[in-house]
Amino acid sequence: MEFYSLASLCERVSSVTKRNVKVGMVADFLRQLEPGEIEPAVSMILGRVFPRWDQRELDVSWISLINIVRRLSGVSKDHFLKIFKDEGDVGETVERIFRTCRIKRQSVLFEKPLTIMEVRRILESVAESSGHGSRERKERLIEALLGRANPLEAKYITKIIIGEMRTGFQEGLMEAAVSKAFNLPLELVQRASLLTGDVAEVAAICRLEGEDALSRINLKVFKPVKPMLAQMASSLEEAIKEHGGRSALEYKLDGARIQIHKSRDKVRIFSRRLTDVTVSLPEISQMIRGNVKAGECILEGEVIAVGADDHPLPFQHLMRRFRRVSDVEDMMREIPIKLYLFDILYVDGESMIDQPYIKRRERLRRVAGRIPLTDQIVTDSLREAERFFKEAIDLGHEGVVVKRLDSPYTPGVRGKHWFKIKEVLEPLDLVIVAAEYGYGRRHGLLSDYYLAARDEDTGRFMIVGKTFKGLTDREIIEMTKRLREISIGEEGNRVYVQPKIVVEVAYNEIQRSPKYECGMALRFARITRIRDDKSVDEADTIQKVRGIFEEQFKKKSRYD
Ligand code: AMP
Repeated sequence: MEFYSLASLCERVSSVTKRNVKVGMVADFLRQLEPGEIEPAVSMILGRVFPRWDQRELDVSWISLINIVRRLSGVSKDHFLKIFKDEGDVGETVERIFRTCRIKRQSVLFEKPLTIMEVRRILESVAESSGHGSRERKERLIEALLGRANPLEAKYITKIIIGEMRTGFQEGLMEAAVSKAFNLPLELVQRASLLTGDVAEVAAICRLEGEDALSRINLKVFKPVKPMLAQMASSLEEAIKEHGGRSALEYKLDGARIQIHKSRDKVRIFSRRLTDVTVSLPEISQMIRGNVKAGECILEGEVIAVGADDHPLPFQHLMRRFRRVSDVEDMMREIPIKLYLFDILYVDGESMIDQPYIKRRERLRRVAGRIPLTDQIVTDSLREAERFFKEAIDLGHEGVVVKRLDSPYTPGVRGKHWFKIKEVLEPLDLVIVAAEYGYGRRHGLLSDYYLAARDEDTGRFMIVGKTFKGLTDREIIEMTKRLREISIGEEGNRVYVQPKIVVEVAYNEIQRSPKYECGMALRFARITRIRDDKSVDEADTIQKVRGIFEEQFKKKSRYD
């Protein structure tokens, strides 16, 4: 099938609003594909180059993409950014450039239309290119690909590379389309999609093998399952409220997640990325064999490295354990590890993932023998939750995971059933020194802010972070006006402003980073208030930021 058909489909899908019409269009399209084209096409329609759990990544930056388009079209960087400012979407920008400029075409040899499979294969080569000179190789491959594309194809190739389709066609609708296309029950498709974590793989199974194979998809010992993930929440209150007022809280151990599969005496251990790490962790296998009260099961837990008196050691120690495949015995002595279990997915022929968390936990306790479970409380009291959180931090853990009591185990999904909450540091008062225009809904609005702290010694403002989070739509409109009034110059998409506006900024961590001149960067920065009551002289200093950074570092290695 030609790639142009896929691009036109996406165009049509984004032009209609009714969900069932979108689903119908995609279902018709899926029916016309060859079996081998199904998975690549479904992935691409969802804005992915590969199936969800494929670990390959393109690793192509925005800047590279802009450079490629500029080389092909001859447009200047400013011109590109001007169009981007108008359109607010990279895909649309590329399409417009392709329509209005003379594109350097590949030789006539390549004038055959692009097919879905060719696009996939070229992007595979991009992902697989690594090591010295790989950036140039990747750019050359994409340049050759776009050099053969017409404007609409170029638009969607760009969107797929960036991973943002904006056609309003999400995973849930794709499940409906797959069910309709192959005339299979929706619940079955949804279940398989949950178990495999990828609707594209499921679509291919539907087309190739049909209902029987679909209903046979189940958890199987020694076939690792994508782990359920946790979303970041900024407060315990928010997390517990989202769970209807009562949650389970557990220490968030700063270790590595493992998935343990056991059948009789055979044990295999998989890392979070589903790599087999069994040989590096012999004591875990032994512990499972000696304790677990089930013939077959799949368990999950966190391993941490521990020092004297069982205190957790920093993460890097543990990673040395995971990488080691020879002389493991020495390593076992040097870096002892401890396992805490927190979930059970399968036991003796019975899948547990549809059971509520609280039930799984009970079952886990019965199966685990003497292996400890993560420390847990179940509470509806914010005070109690806060006490537990503080206890976790004082013991050297990262924070807590807040789990919904009635939630199933959703493989591969980062949702609101599990929230992770890490230590919140006191907010900083920082000064906006530049801002960038956003895109999509924030097109034309200065909505991405550079935040700076004052250097007491030189009086200069040093950037420590950037954020587009925290302000309401109305505040962004107001802020855009104010920033334009104090603008001191523009460069592409960015407006530099006089340091006049102070904002309060919350963040999770200060990282070492080469991105800014000060060598540090705030992680997960978000504006919590506009501090018009504060003058710029009262804003926090770079010396204070550095102090917090160093303090945090000391704390991290306090059990070193
Ligand atoms: P993050 O890696 O920041 O997305 O946080 C989620 C990770 O926290 C999980 O993948 C686990 O490795 C880890 N974790 C630590 N303690 C727990 C716990 N009690 N329950 C679930 N996950 C935990």
